[in-house]
This record gives sequence, C-alpha cells and structure tokens, in this order.
Amino acid sequence: MSNTTPGQTILKGISGSPGICIGKAYLVEKEGVNIIERYPVSDAMVQGEIDRFKNAVSKAKKDHAKIIEALDDDLSENLNILEAHMILFKDKMLYGKTIDTISRDKINAEWALRKVSRQVKLMFQQVDDQYLQARVNDIVQVSDKIMSYLIGARDINIADINKRVILVAHDLSPADASQIQLERIKGFVTDRGGRDSHTAIVAKSLKIPSVFGLGRATIDINNDDILIIDGSSGTIIVNPDEETLFKYEERMARFAAYQADLERESHLPAVTRDQVPLTLMANIELVEEVVAAKDNGAIGIGLFRTEFLYLDLKRYPTEEELLQKYKELAELMTPEPVTIRTLDINGDKFNPYIDPVEEANPALGLRAVRFCLENRHIFITQIKAILRAAAFGNIKLLIPMISCVEEIIQVREILNLAVEELKAESKIFNKDIPLGIMIEVPSAVMMAEELAGHVDFFSIGTNDLIQYSMAIDRRNRRVAHLYQALNPAVLKMIKITCDAAQKNGIEVVMCGEMAGDPINIPVLMGLGLRNLSMNSASIPVIKKLIRNLDMEENQKIVDKALEFSTVEEITEYVRTAYKDILPYREIEETA
Ligand code: PEP
Ligand code: MG
Repeated sequence: MSNTTPGQTILKGISGSPGICIGKAYLVEKEGVNIIERYPVSDAMVQGEIDRFKNAVSKAKKDHAKIIEALDDDLSENLNILEAHMILFKDKMLYGKTIDTISRDKINAEWALRKVSRQVKLMFQQVDDQYLQARVNDIVQVSDKIMSYLIGARDINIADINKRVILVAHDLSPADASQIQLERIKGFVTDRGGRDSHTAIVAKSLKIPSVFGLGRATIDINNDDILIIDGSSGTIIVNPDEETLFKYEERMARFAAYQADLERESHLPAVTRDQVPLTLMANIELVEEVVAAKDNGAIGIGLFRTEFLYLDLKRYPTEEELLQKYKELAELMTPEPVTIRTLDINGDKFNPYIDPVEEANPALGLRAVRFCLENRHIFITQIKAILRAAAFGNIKLLIPMISCVEEIIQVREILNLAVEELKAESKIFNKDIPLGIMIEVPSAVMMAEELAGHVDFFSIGTNDLIQYSMAIDRRNRRVAHLYQALNPAVLKMIKITCDAAQKNGIEVVMCGEMAGDPINIPVLMGLGLRNLSMNSASIPVIKKLIRNLDMEENQKIVDKALEFSTVEEITEYVRTAYKDILPYREIEETA
C-alpha cells in the first residue's frame, strides 16, 4: 500500500521489529546464494552493461553445451530439458527484454535480468496451461546460470556490507538476517515476509527496526533514497519532507530515551502490584545472545533455537561441535535453566545441504521432529550432545512440532538409545533432565491431556500455533491480517493447553512471539500463564507492564474479554482497559 504527498511517499507494511531509524536506502537482492545490487548506469555505460550481459550469456551457453556433450545416452530425458534450456538462453523474452531493460531503465545487467526473469515467471504462472507453468523452472534455472556468470567475481556477502544504510531486499532468509552486522546496518525492509517469520524474530533480537511485506519496496525505492523506518507501526517514508524528518528525529530521540529508561529497570523482578510473580526468560538463536538476555533481565533461556549452527556450517555439525556450544551456553547461564530445542529445520529454514528435497508446502512437510525421526543419526547426535552438556548446567530438552502421542513415544526411545550409546562410550552425561514438547500444532492442543502424561513440560509456540490454527503461512504478507494472536480460537487453544498442564501437574511456558507483545500479557496471565519466554529485547517493556498490573483486577477484565467472539472486540476491550499502562503510547501519540 502506498500514499504519496508532494515530495514524499508513505509505504505501509508489516511491523517486523520496533524502533525508528533514518538513513539511505541500499538495494540488494538475494537470489540463491548471491546478493544482487541495483545501481544506475550512465548513458555512456549502457552499452558496456549490455556487453557484460551478452558475455555472461555466451559463457553460460558454452558451459551448458559442455554439460550436454558429456551427458550419458541413458539420461536422454535430461537431454531434452537441457536442450530446451539451450534455446531459452537466447529467447526473446529473457535475452531481448533484459537488453531492452538495461537501456530503457539505465540499470545494471544483474538487476535488469532479475526484473525480467521475475516478470516472465509471473506471466507463465498466470497462464492456465500445465506445460507452460512447468517452464517456469526452466526459466529460473537459465536465468540463475546467467546470473552466476554476471555476478562472478563481484559476489558479495551480506555480512560484508559495510555501510550505515537501510537494506532494501525482496526477501531475506533468517540465516541472512542473522549475519547482518548490527553496527553497520541501520534497518531493513523487504517485499516479502509476514509477522513472526524467523527473519522478524532475528531482527527483533538484533534491535534493528524493520518492516516486511511491503510487496514492491524494491521497485518503489531507489538506491540512496532517504528512508524513515518506523518499525513499530510498519511504516516507511521515502524521501520525507523537512517537517516529517524533524518530527521523526524527535520521535527517534524519545524512543531511545524510553528504551534506556526501560533497560535501567530491567533487573527489577517481574511481579504484579498484588505480588504475583512471573518468570521471564529469553529466546535466543546464538550463544552470543546470552549477554543481551542477561542484560535485559532474563531468568534463564526459555528457548534456544538450534538451527543456525546447522545452517551456517552448511553440513551437519559433529557431536563434539554441538557439545562445545551447548556446554558453553549451559555454563554461561548456570544455575538458570537453558531450554535446548532440537532441530526445527524445513519450515522456513532450509538448507539444501541438509535436505535437498523441495516441498510444495514446507510448513506442512517433513519439518522439525518429523525430519529428525526420519534421520535418526542426526537426531541422536544432537541428543547425545545435549545430554553431555547437561552435566555442566541446568538443561531442559524441548522437542518441536509434536503432533501426536506416537511421536513423543518414538522420541523417548531415541533418548534411551542415546543414553545407552553414551554409557557404552563411557562419556560423562546427565540423563535426568526435563523433557518437554512444543505445543504448536492444533492436534497437540486437542491431545494435551494425553501428551501431558508423557512429558515434564509444555512450551506453547504461538508463532506456529497461530499459523496452523488459522491456516495461514506465517511468511505470507497477503494473509498477515489473519495472523491474530488474540483471535478467540487461539485463546481457546492456549486455555486448553494451560488447563491440561495444570491438571497433570506439569509446567507450561509460552515461547512464541505472542508472549513478547505487551497487549497480550494481561490476557495470557488471565489464561493462567506464569512463565513467558520471549525475544530478550522485549523483556524490559513486559516487566514494566507486569509491575503495573493488579492480578485480581486483571482476572476480571480477562474473563470478560474472553466472552467476546471477535478479535476486534477482544483487542479493543483490552486496549481500553489498559490504556494507561500499555507502552509506546507516548510515542505513538505524536505519530
Ligand atoms: C513458535 O512456533 O511459536 C516458536 C517459538 O517456534 P519457531 O518460531 O521457531 O517456529
Ligand atoms: Mg514453531
């Protein structure tokens, strides 16, 4: 959505992480493993760019011809595909249009190729013809090949971008976001992405203001445009006028002062006015985040997402490598608990080195524990490392994406196997650690009573629970409006889970992003939650809110809120009831 007033354009997206920043735009594109920059070329340089493009095409073609020559006869099916690709290299649509785009838009060859291949892809996808739709893949492969020759030696790494800029990208994977160097990048915005995607989670923990799901940011924004990012409201202002700039500079200063105030109070306990205590823990992705977690006043790590080590290494880590990380974490946090979640790969965190199979619906595919149960050697290696690290601190073991009782029974079998192997290897380990499951699939909610009999704790993962119960892809900006934490259906599921945990005498934690959003806190407390784990950047603000709440009064308000049947009514009711203590108010009022 965009709205233009003379001199400035306002773009509305989805709030990724809060905060305000002002800076110059720097356009990058992530395709495969390469980052593509967009830059203008002068009239005099246009021909040079076209030649560079033609050169890349002929190198890619030569390379392709060699592959065809070397092909075995019995791979004739592949031969047909490869020969079709040979024609596509000089196809008018891809080849001719890219050259036209370079000279018409006066942009670099990489960006022109990217723009054209995306248009062609879209065109083919919209045609109601299976044969043509299947050709989309061919186009992607051919343009990727040309692109790799174009980028060649100029391949840049996102971690090497050394300018104080605001990154504007079509999409960024969680692994890309985790590589961004905080001191270098002021903020980032993307065309794609939805609420509580893993990229948004990483942005929050890095405290980088970000806005996602803008749709066409990479088209509407040019390099070096001045941008204001208001991450809290999901607004981008492109080339602001002086008055707006002044207003946001003031807001930025106020936001910084407000943050500093909060951080000063972050070590006070999370206790309500009527002395009901809560435990606030941190969600982390990297061991290095422990410092921020402690600074923000976290009492333990409620969720350690272990995927990033696997993604960064581009291979499976060894048991020893995992042990070193987990041991370090346990020792840094001891005596406080560290909840290590086993590998949750293939939802929106993929790595072709780990699993080369592409799925149509990855969130519904062989993800997390499903992948681990099919790849037992990987699972057992990780579990052994966790059990060994547990000898050095207070570790809890958490299993993601459990959707039925059979899965937790199988996990227990593997756990026993890991114990037997460690015994046989005479390793030091601790097998008496709490075993918990994420409650993030609706079927697990419905079976919470039965599941409670098999585990020591539940951890409610609302990022996925909302995704699966509302049937929306959490990365898809087109359905982001349905990503509603306070939807009555979601609240009912949380209630069922909390009640089952209480009845069976097991602990229940919430570790989804819902627990880090102030508006949800009174409701979660009213539903019975006392243990919350969140992005550590959110802890100070949530603590302050809790210290201003009276639980007895809160319970009455929440009981009433739960009588409503729409998310609007619930949100409005809670917002009004807590208007004096909800944060950011003083900042939002001047917007
Ligand atoms: C969740 O689903 O709420 C959760 C905490 O896990 P993740 O965001 O890693 O899927
Ligand atoms: Mg999850």
